[in-house]
Amino acid sequence: MSQDLQRPASVTDAFLQQLVERVPSTAGGTWKLTEVYTGEVLVELPQSTPADIERAFAAARVAQAEWSQWPLAKRLKVFKRAHALFVENAHRTADLIQVESGKNRRMAIEETCDPPMVMSHYIKHAPRLLAPVTKGGPVPFLTRSTAIRQPKGVVGVIAPWNFPFATGISDAVTALIAGNGVVLKPDNKTALSPLWGIQMLEDAGLPKGLFQVVCGEGPDVGPTLIDHANYVMFTGSTATGRVIGERAGRNLIGACLELGGKNPMIVLDDADMDDVVEGAVFGVFGNTGQICMHIERIYLPESRYAEFRDKFVARAKGLDVRASYDFGPEMGSLVSPDHKERVQSHVDDAVAKGATVLAGGRPRPDLGPAFYEPTILEGVTQDMLTGSCETFGPVVALHRYRTVDEAVALANDTDYGLNASVWGGDVEAASAVARRIQSGNVNVNDILATAFASKGTPSGGVKQSGVGARHGDQGLTKYTDVQNLAVLKKQVMGARPGQNYDDYVKGMLSGLSMMRRTRLR
Ligand code: NAD
Repeated sequence: MSQDLQRPASVTDAFLQQLVERVPSTAGGTWKLTEVYTGEVLVELPQSTPADIERAFAAARVAQAEWSQWPLAKRLKVFKRAHALFVENAHRTADLIQVESGKNRRMAIEETCDPPMVMSHYIKHAPRLLAPVTKGGPVPFLTRSTAIRQPKGVVGVIAPWNFPFATGISDAVTALIAGNGVVLKPDNKTALSPLWGIQMLEDAGLPKGLFQVVCGEGPDVGPTLIDHANYVMFTGSTATGRVIGERAGRNLIGACLELGGKNPMIVLDDADMDDVVEGAVFGVFGNTGQICMHIERIYLPESRYAEFRDKFVARAKGLDVRASYDFGPEMGSLVSPDHKERVQSHVDDAVAKGATVLAGGRPRPDLGPAFYEPTILEGVTQDMLTGSCETFGPVVALHRYRTVDEAVALANDTDYGLNASVWGGDVEAASAVARRIQSGNVNVNDILATAFASKGTPSGGVKQSGVGARHGDQGLTKYTDVQNLAVLKKQVMGARPGQNYDDYVKGMLSGLSMMRRTRLR
């Protein structure tokens, strides 16, 4: 580790203390939140008890009752001001993201951009998406029905550590715009940047109490949180998503589950290899391989395998990996020594079962407690842990294919379906291959940013990668219930007093035929 590594100047003890004071904790003790690059304790993070969580929901409900009555335009003004504050404070936010996650500066600053992008999108589209929509009813001219979007109430948001600011704040912002209150549970390791995001939202005018945060280990906090929420927005592993989904189902509340992936990249034989190599460097090693949409499997045509392998291995071996709070390093640390052990166990298992290490394959304790080398494997099979399970580190397996059909079959041979990437010179041909992949997101000639930054289209997983989506129209409307308000101006339905029922039915049936012909609904 660099001897002269200085914690960013903005991350003072007083600032950290002020951030964590918001977390309710009457008897839950504290958790030692550490700086990843050094392992040093940054702050004692208060832990919330079930009673604290109940009180957080009660307070959010009081604030939400008032917030939901604000005209939408007034609510949106808060997010216009917040957008400016988030952009002005991007570097301070990136400081917090880096100290708590260990990612490199480039990824930290990119992460700060997600909430403003989400805010811009819904500031523009919320008025249309939340407006009442009136349709004709069953009897022309005399009836109408209106779909009225109402906030669900208080939404529980559970966020992971890999993009703590983006997942903790962006998903909550959307729920708030729809008129809800929020109780957020970040991961203990990465609670600082979301706490700072809430402070910026309040500085922008978000009513105090509306956005609560509770902290603790998932299994301790999760049940109380889900039992008090009107909807759950969860981002994390497939295993935890199943637990959350089961409990939400029992409570008959909705849940959006954004889960893990085992994302494939298919390179077609007409792809530009320099672009492909640079794409793969980001796709595999970006955020130290801890992006839910990152690449863990690369499929190459026989004819171009060696060309790609040699260039990619050379790039991986030459990557600038180290602890630094400036933009220099191309890759930072894994999030924790525990996670480094998990990544190492996947590589060891692969090697024991016959895989070959082309690059990396070892931890780097000299760089910091959770650093791991950029790692490229060959000969990985489905019986290896990294052949079928998400490794979630800077580790990738290279595979050859003979035909495009075989490549598609191999890409689809997984329980996951979160993201995929297809590279080719002929964009239409590559898009045709992309359509055959069973995946909620597929990027052509990009890894993930094009899909994730396209806020107008829904982004979610299929198969074991999730239920529901963020972004797009449903990214906002999922946080609402729809009231179907139906009005009958004059009672004409049913037979009139004394009317022969046969005559009434005849009239009704001919009315149905007329409505089909005239397309009146
Ligand atoms: P995780 O499932 O272990 O934890 C996620 C969050 O859930 C944390 O806040 C954790 O404390 C909490 N949690 C754990 N058990 C819980 C329980 N029983 N009840 C309630 N909450 C509980 O996941 P992780 O290791 O923190 O994150 C990495 C995973 O997240 C990877 O699988 C990655 O692919 C996935 N992920 C998915 C997306 C997406 O959009 N699809 C985005 C980011 C990360």
